[in-house]
Amino acid sequence: MGGNGRQEDHASELREFLSLKKVADATSSYEDSKYVIFGVPFDCTSSFRRGSRKAPAAIREHYDNLESFDFNYGINYPDIPIADLGDLSVGEDAEEVVNEVENIVRIIRSDGKIPIMLGGEHSITVGAVRNFRDSLFVVIDAHSDFRLEYFGNPFNHACVTRRALELLGPGRCISVGTRSVSMEEFQSDQWKDVRFISSREVSQSGIGKVVREILDYSPGSIYFSIDMDGIDPSYAPGVGTPEPYGLRDSDVRYMINELSPIIEGFDIVEITPVYDNGNTSMLAAKFIQDFIGSREGKRKF
Ligand code: MN
Ligand code: MN
Repeated sequence: MGGNGRQEDHASELREFLSLKKVADATSSYEDSKYVIFGVPFDCTSSFRRGSRKAPAAIREHYDNLESFDFNYGINYPDIPIADLGDLSVGEDAEEVVNEVENIVRIIRSDGKIPIMLGGEHSITVGAVRNFRDSLFVVIDAHSDFRLEYFGNPFNHACVTRRALELLGPGRCISVGTRSVSMEEFQSDQWKDVRFISSREVSQSGIGKVVREILDYSPGSIYFSIDMDGIDPSYAPGVGTPEPYGLRDSDVRYMINELSPIIEGFDIVEITPVYDNGNTSMLAAKFIQDFIGSREGKRKF
């Protein structure tokens, strides 16, 4: 043993302090996993309240407080093969980060696994969607994110749904919770090519009707992106660009529950922990459990 033994002890002790924190239920290796979580701490195109680069860490921290057993679905999450790869090391160029996300998600998809991406700002979603060209893009968002470019950058987080439309084509993108739109976006020729369902429409016709409409598109597979500002600020205050009159947390949960069997890619973006009281990160952590739980659970809730 001698000195080497001591160093081994130190190494494990140091890992306690310094190792990348993982989502608590992510006990699987990448090789054995079915769900692959990774963070993208990038927020360089954010226009108002920056800080979503801190969100992957905040979500993991709050996830620690969730029970590993979920009576709603009758499952124990550590029994499900979930891996957490940690965070992507990112620079400041949005296009580069989007390309890196595209590469990572391509690898995960090619291994038959389901990516769960923790943002970061919304721009990163474009990289993932490049790998889902045959899927339906379903996004929760207060904003239409339909600008051709913003501050001269087509990879700005205000352009995500526009980029998704270009990738997938008309009739393949559904945005739920819309309530903030510029005149230019609204008057663009392509506006009709995306189904924007306002938060007002959701509250009036009910989330059940929204889910049925999504399923009527018969996509077979969905990429599901949650911009947390789509949810009402009373449930999710810690976001970069808050907008009143949002969706209820339980409505988003219902969507996740009903659509999870055909969701093949999932992300949660735009949380700004410095403006959070903890509820937004906690809700994001719970959405991850609700996604995996309802997809895997034998029991109906
Ligand atoms: Mn967005
Ligand atoms: Mn938004």
